[in-house]
Amino acid sequence: MLLRHTTAEVADRKALTINPAKTCQPVGAMYAALGIHGCMPHSHGSQGCCAYHRSALTRHYKEPVMAATSSFTEGSSVFGGQANLLQAFNNIFTVYNPDVIAVHTTCLSETIGDDVKQIAKKALDEGKIPEGKLVLHCATPSYVGSHVTGFSNMCAAMADQMAEDAEVKNSTVNIVPGWVEPGDMREIKRLMKAMKVTNIMFPDTSDVLDAPMTGHHQFYPKGGVTLNELRDSGKSCKTFSLGTWASKAAGEALWKKCRVPFEEMSLPIGIKATDRFLSAVSKETSCPVPQSITDERGRLVDMICDMQQYLAGKRVALWGDPDQLLALTEFLVDMDMKPVYVVSGTPGKLWMKKMEELVGDAVPECKYLNGERADMFLMHQWIKEQGVDLLIGNSYGKYIARDEDIPFVRHGFPIYDRVGHSQFPTVGYAGGMRLVEKILGVLMDRKDRDADEEFFELVL
Ligand code: SF4
Repeated sequence: MLLRHTTAEVADRKALTINPAKTCQPVGAMYAALGIHGCMPHSHGSQGCCAYHRSALTRHYKEPVMAATSSFTEGSSVFGGQANLLQAFNNIFTVYNPDVIAVHTTCLSETIGDDVKQIAKKALDEGKIPEGKLVLHCATPSYVGSHVTGFSNMCAAMADQMAEDAEVKNSTVNIVPGWVEPGDMREIKRLMKAMKVTNIMFPDTSDVLDAPMTGHHQFYPKGGVTLNELRDSGKSCKTFSLGTWASKAAGEALWKKCRVPFEEMSLPIGIKATDRFLSAVSKETSCPVPQSITDERGRLVDMICDMQQYLAGKRVALWGDPDQLLALTEFLVDMDMKPVYVVSGTPGKLWMKKMEELVGDAVPECKYLNGERADMFLMHQWIKEQGVDLLIGNSYGKYIARDEDIPFVRHGFPIYDRVGHSQFPTVGYAGGMRLVEKILGVLMDRKDRDADEEFFELVL
C-alpha cells in the first residue's frame, strides 16, 4: 500500500495541501509560449525552476522542450534580475535566433518585484532587441493560481501585446483552444477546415510538441501560430475562448485592445459541448456543419447507445484542470454515468457554481471542491468512504488506482507514464469516441478479470 497513511475520516484542514491537484504557473506559460512559431520561452528566475518546468513538459509530451533562464544567483536574488534578463536577450537572439522571446516570471522574480515590462522596454530602447524580433512577457507568480493560470496569462499577453487593431473586421474567427493537447488543437483545426472556416488558433502546439520524426533536427518545429497571425487576430470578427480558466482572459484582452467580441465556451469535449461550439462557429461564420461531421456525431451516439449497459450508473472520480473537469462531467452525465467525486487544484469561485449546475440535479450525491484543499489526499479519502468504479485524471492517480484496485483512465496534465495523449484527440465527436473507447476498455478489462469462469464471456 503506497498510500497507507491516507485515513478514511476527512478532517478539516486549513493550512495544508497534500499531493496537490495542480502544478505551478510558469509550466502553463511555457506550454502556451511553445504554441508560437519560432518562440523561445524564457524563465525569469533561477535555473532550478526552469529545469523543473521543462522536465514536466518533456515528460508529458515526450518531446525536447527548450527554454532559456535568467539563471538567478545570490546577487540577482538581492539586487534584482534586470542585468541577467538584458544579457539573456542578447545571448538568446545572438545564439538561438528566435522570432520572439516569451518571458514569464517565477516566484523569486515576483517576490523581488522585477518589472519585466520595464526591462523589456529598456532592452528595446537600448537596441538589444533586433529589428523584426519581439519580446513578449507575462507575470506568473506561482504562489497564486496554478499552471492553468500561467497558461491563461501567457495567452492574454499574446492578445494584449501582439494583436493589431483594425476598424473593419474580416470574416476570420480566433480560437483560443484552452489547455488541450497538440492532437486536440489539430482536431479543432480539422473541424474548422471541414466547415471551411478561416481561423487563427493561438496558441497552437500541434507540430511543435507532437512534431514528426524526420531525421533532421529543426530547432524551431514547423508548427505554432505565426507572429503575423497573432498581429492579424485583432482584425478578426470574433474570438471563441474555449475554457473559462485557460482562455477567457485572452478573449477579454482582444476585446479591450481591438474590440473583437468574444464568446466564452466550454472545451468541446463530449456531445453537447461540441454541438454548442460548432453551432456557434457556424452561426458566426454562416459556414454550415458538413454531413461528414454530422456522421461523426452519429457514430459517437451509436457507440454510447450500443454500450450503454456498461456505462450507466458507473461511479467516477475525476481530478485535474477546471475546464477539462467541467466538460468531462457534462459528458459523463450525458452518458448516464455518475461523476461522484471531482477535485481541481486550480482556484476560482465560479467553478463550484458551474459544477452545481451540472450535477445538482443529475448527481446530487456528487462531492466536488477546488482550490488549495482540493488535493489528491482528499480525493483518496472520499474514495475510501465510498468506492468508485472508475478513475479519470492525470498520472498522479496511479497510486490510488493501485491501492484501491480501481480501473483508471489517464486524462489531462501531466501524463508521465503512458503515450497517445498528445497525438489522439479527446475533443470533438471523434475525440468523444476515443474517450468512450478508453473508458469502456478499462471497465470491460475489469469485468473480464473479475468474472467467474462460468460467466467469462467471449462477446461483451
Ligand atoms: S513554485 Fe515557484 S519556486 Fe517552485 S518551481 Fe514554480 S516558480 Fe519555481
